[in-house]
Order: sequence, then C-alpha cells, then structure tokens
Amino acid sequence: MAIDRLLFPRPDAERIYVKRLPVDDVECPSCHGTNVARYPVANYLGPRMVTKCQDCFTHLSVGRPEPSDHWPPWRSATRDWPASRLG
Ligand SMILES: [Zn+2]
Repeated sequence: MAIDRLLFPRPDAERIYVKRLPVDDVECPSCHGTNVARYPVANYLGPRMVTKCQDCFTHLSVGRPEPSDHWPPWRSATRDWPASRLG
C-alpha cells in the first residue's frame, strides 16, 4: 500500500537532532571564525539548506535543497514533474 511509505516508526533515539556538516575553508565575515556548518532548516520560506557560522550564527547562505540533501524526507514524488496548464 502506498500509505505505508508515509508512516514512520517511533524514533528509538533519546534525542532527535540535525547533523551539522562542517564546511572547510570558509571564514565568517562577522567574527572571522572558521566554525561554519551546513544543515537543513524549515523556516517561513519552506525547507532550506543554510550555511551558518556556529559561533555567531551569521547566515553565509540560504538555498533550496538539492535532491542529494534528502530534505525534507517526505518530499512529494511528483515534485520535479512539469506542471499542467492548470497548475
Ligand atoms: Zn561568525
């Protein structure tokens, strides 16, 4: 059944968190730190991938997620299909 793919089991982990992948060779323009990470967020624009300084939280970039980012995990299978004239 297709509905089975929409159901997720109860998480086993005690704490749920997002992995922040460190970005090398990037310096924060505000604090000149090198502790920069890229990770998924869900903000008022929808799902986005952000690159932020982890010391002062300055945004270095905000962009749409690529398919390789697997964000969001419940993305529609028809997301990349061309729209009809009716939308
Ligand atoms: Zn910074």
